[in-house]
Amino acid sequence: MRFDFTTAGRIIFGPGTREEVPALASRMGRHALVVGGRSRGRTSGLIQGLRARGMNATIFAVDREPTMEIILEGLTLARAESCDLVIGMGGGSVIDAGKAIAALLTNPGELLEYLEVIGGSQSIPNPPAPYIAIPTTAGTGTEVTRNAVIISREHEVKVSMRSDMMLPRLVVADPELTYSLPPHITAGTGLDALTQLVEAFVSVKANPFTDGLCREGLVRAARSLNTVYADGGDKTAREDMMLASLFSGLALANAGLGAVHGFAAPLGGMFDAPHGIICARLLPIVMDVNIRALSVRSPGSQALARYGEIARILTGNPGADARQGVAWVEETCAAMHIPPLSAIGLSEEHIPSLVEKAARASSMKGNPAGLTGQELEEIARRSLTPVPARVPR
Ligand code: NAD
Repeated sequence: MRFDFTTAGRIIFGPGTREEVPALASRMGRHALVVGGRSRGRTSGLIQGLRARGMNATIFAVDREPTMEIILEGLTLARAESCDLVIGMGGGSVIDAGKAIAALLTNPGELLEYLEVIGGSQSIPNPPAPYIAIPTTAGTGTEVTRNAVIISREHEVKVSMRSDMMLPRLVVADPELTYSLPPHITAGTGLDALTQLVEAFVSVKANPFTDGLCREGLVRAARSLNTVYADGGDKTAREDMMLASLFSGLALANAGLGAVHGFAAPLGGMFDAPHGIICARLLPIVMDVNIRALSVRSPGSQALARYGEIARILTGNPGADARQGVAWVEETCAAMHIPPLSAIGLSEEHIPSLVEKAARASSMKGNPAGLTGQELEEIARRSLTPVPARVPR
């Protein structure tokens, strides 16, 4: 057995840990580009703390999933202000934008040269500017991944800029920052974390290190995802989901993902819709199609056994089979009002180009079953319909 596990330079987890950032940041640079989200209030304490330590702070707001244009705008600002440190404090959109800006700040050439699928996929030659990631959603786990996901509207696809050197120097994961998430964002982001745990656990690139992270993350998501949706003030459940998200990122960065993310890449470029919602609607369908394909083509596979293990963790039923895991995910999505993808604008006419782009997406490489064109079409077509309604628990 051989595996290779890479992660952020340092991870600090716990309620209130955001207070430690200014002191740590002051050892990494003098002028921070603080990448924040829509709400200025979420970064105001950080800015005050940095200035109290004699640092300069320039704010850059990222109010949507980052496009190439947004990254270049942030880069231009960071260069004009001579920033030598980048801090991303927000959801996955903000963290990814900060990650890409930090990488481009110290590297020559055009963004497109570094982008996978649509560009040159070049490696960055120089280490990025020091980068601190502070997630406020739970989440994407992007604080511990080596890629930044960027939308190209021209190519109608989301693609990654990727390098081991892009792993943040410091991660501060403070669950208190997620208390303000409203239920619909708690649902989409929490189901994204669940998707990542499931896909990394059944991935062809899974290893014992990522398996442990996925099992622990799945246990926490199973007991806290529905709780945190019903009661966002439940501190224990918020902590569980922050850990589930962190573990999902640690796992996906080292084990890859699967067909849900293979489809999410083009869908995110074609439609202006939250990533978590897209993943949530696809998750039970992809689980179902993968289980069916593996049962026929690879009945003794480890991945099929793992779908059974996922079902037992999610349902808490030691006798559950793989399909009961699919039912648990469907029930959870239905309870959280996850819409069909027709609601974001997907229709029958998009299916051929969607399937063609999904098949080429980098995440598809981790999917445990080699899906046929017909199976990919089936996934796309079923995502147009609402999650099947089931008897409430
Ligand atoms: P997001 O960052 O787009 O945020 C969603 C919404 O939540 C925004 O309106 C934001 O303002 C709001 N928000 C954030 N924190 C909040 C808080 N504490 N309280 C209230 N509102 C808050 O959503 P996301 O799901 O965190 O990130 C999605 C992005 O991350 C996508 O672009 C996706 O492709 C990317 N992603 C990247 C990786 C990676 O490894 N690089 C992994 C997964 C997802």
